[in-house]
Amino acid sequence: MNHPSTPAIAVHGGAGSLDDSGTSGLGPDAPREAGVGRAASAAWELLRRGGSALDAVVLAASLLEDDPTFNAGTGATLTSAGHVELDASLMDGATLGAGAVACVKDVKNPILLARAVLERSPHLLIVADGASAFAREMGIPAWPNERLVIPQQRARFDASAGVKPTTVGGGTIGAVARDRNGHVAAATSTGGTFLKRPGRVGDSPIIGAGTYADDRLAAVSSTGHGEPIIRVTLARLVADLVGAGRSPGEAAAEGIRILGARVAGQGGVIVVGPSGDPGFAFNTPAMARAWSDGSGNIRTAL
Ligand code: ASP
Repeated sequence: MNHPSTPAIAVHGGAGSLDDSGTSGLGPDAPREAGVGRAASAAWELLRRGGSALDAVVLAASLLEDDPTFNAGTGATLTSAGHVELDASLMDGATLGAGAVACVKDVKNPILLARAVLERSPHLLIVADGASAFAREMGIPAWPNERLVIPQQRARFDASAGVKPTTVGGGTIGAVARDRNGHVAAATSTGGTFLKRPGRVGDSPIIGAGTYADDRLAAVSSTGHGEPIIRVTLARLVADLVGAGRSPGEAAAEGIRILGARVAGQGGVIVVGPSGDPGFAFNTPAMARAWSDGSGNIRTAL
């Protein structure tokens, strides 16, 4: 059990296969565990110095977006049209404020744009060209789509003739945190599923499905096959289970059980409850993850 004033961070690097060659396309040596560990350490340091849960999840998510190992920001998977389309969302458990963007093609860090939607617009979700226009108004520079594409993802696309679109993107990223003041926040960012139709939106930018945070319940970030995740509103489902008295670990396991049993969905979740205890569950072979233990040490697992 975490001490009430000890902050907590948990980060995921996407539900997928163990060697990840079948999902993210990056091959067995993709250093996913190291990447989530670095992001969790940086966010933990921010929390330790008294930073907010919202700042911590945004920091972790932006670091993971910049890490080409993950299917978010730079390194994202390609659509059936051969370009990158990014989705991201975040939620502040103190205010229930949320911001999200979808189908963004020209922003390096969509989580920062989602934060601008939360803090500097009257809206919650802005998509596609409207999101690009809003980014420019906010002073977020245009970032060429080609610069989001790494050679491995381009090669995977070029070899994809006759390949079926994946249902689990592999390498989606998410972060959940609780700060010293007991506030929680969650963030999620993804390139979506490989060879998705342009304009397809998954769970990641959908509040209640990909992301949810409420100080009275928990902070949750989901990953996996977006369509089934939306149908069970997985993040809110897991948060509600914590609110009903389950531990974060139990709530995560029950949420993933329901995802599998009711809609045959594949995926995973990370949770931080109001006490700061983390929880994880996934029904895919692996989900890279990192979290702070009660003493502030960062632990990692695949
Ligand atoms: N949930 C993401 C989506 O459906 C993909 C993933 O997490 O693997 O867009």
